[in-house]
Amino acid sequence: MSFASLGLIDQIVRTLASLEYTQPTPIQAQAIPAVLAGRDVMAAAQTGTGKTAGFALPLLQRLVQDGAQVGSNAVRALVLVPTRELAEQVHESVRAYGDGLPLRTMVAYGGVSINPQMMRLRKGVDVLVATPGRLLDLQRQNAVKFNQVQALVLDEADRMLDLGFSRDIDKLLALLPKRRQTLLFSATFSDPIRELAARLLHDPVDIETAPRNTTAKAIRQWIVTTDKKRKPDLFLHLLKRHGWSQVLAFVKTRKGVDQLVDLLAAQGIGADSIHGDKPQPARLRALERFKAGEVRVLVATDVAARGLDIDELPVVVNVDLPIVAEDYVHRTGRTGRAGASGEAVSLVCADEVQQLAAIEALTGQTLQRKEEAGFEAEHRVPQTNAGGQVVKKPKKPKKNKDERRAQADARVVQEDVRFRRT
Ligand code: AMP
Repeated sequence: MSFASLGLIDQIVRTLASLEYTQPTPIQAQAIPAVLAGRDVMAAAQTGTGKTAGFALPLLQRLVQDGAQVGSNAVRALVLVPTRELAEQVHESVRAYGDGLPLRTMVAYGGVSINPQMMRLRKGVDVLVATPGRLLDLQRQNAVKFNQVQALVLDEADRMLDLGFSRDIDKLLALLPKRRQTLLFSATFSDPIRELAARLLHDPVDIETAPRNTTAKAIRQWIVTTDKKRKPDLFLHLLKRHGWSQVLAFVKTRKGVDQLVDLLAAQGIGADSIHGDKPQPARLRALERFKAGEVRVLVATDVAARGLDIDELPVVVNVDLPIVAEDYVHRTGRTGRAGASGEAVSLVCADEVQQLAAIEALTGQTLQRKEEAGFEAEHRVPQTNAGGQVVKKPKKPKKNKDERRAQADARVVQEDVRFRRT
């Protein structure tokens, strides 16, 4: 199947050829004709499936064909995304796909000065990619008008709700024209998202190109069980042993991110980080350095989990499992993109067994377990099954008589201390 057969105009088809997109991905094959026909769309697609082009190409074409002039401060198509990084990335794609078309595009997100954004909006823009909070700020300052909005895209809609944008989204929806085309894209579809979709979409085309909540097939996934405190050293060990050329590593806390970066730096391994405490320019710089291959390891909290497109990333390591099982799908989606193969490795400690069970239930698989010599868990990670259950209680290692006596003595001493304190 060709892009031209989907109804795309010559200019866009030429641009796609120059980007070496030879044929549409499954989501593009379904979304492009539906969006060109003016239909609302609800699409559940895995990350890395080409969904950005799935909505951007037909929207750009509709804007060109309709030919309306954009008024000052007005916007014709609005793309809402949850994070600044994703905003940059989606805008880059929109710019690339719209090359040669007479359209103005712009990106707006918080954490950077609002004035240049206000200036650029004065002439009006055809496509605005924005995060919800900054868009509301711009609207409050009368820098943006919504009366010309004819299309709204909610990208990574579930993530926007997870990140607490639901009130901002409701406020924005109340300000938008009721007659418009709405496209809702998300890798995972939870109940709140389905409710939002039911409120927003009119007779949508429902697109599902992969089984819901599955991780990309080309990704080899396995876990290494260990103790919590051994995780940073185990990560270092695996990095060296497997000779991974580049790794995106996810860590639960910002402090944990910094500690791992320091550990890697101390070993002479180039590492940088992305987390919520870092100013936006530093976050983007870290991502650029990683993409350019200047650093070997990018350590991130879940801020970076969704949407980031890094070409041919071979390995994602979950140093900590995500709290929300859906985030596992997003994290692992950073590798094995656009058909490339990849590996997703999770370091799992006993405390995380419920999270592991939830991930296995969501993705319908039991992850292969491995142990690494010298890093075996003292606190055993209980067995799980793909039904999301923990099937065995952790076996307590048998203690010999001397150990038991030593423990009993320790308890007596502790109780004595407690007694004396009171
Ligand atoms: P996305 O899911 O939109 O983030 O896209 C994932 C990656 O696939 C990006 O690097 C795109 O440039 C690439 N891509 C999207 N559509 C195609 C296509 N039809 N052929 C080849 N690469 C594509």
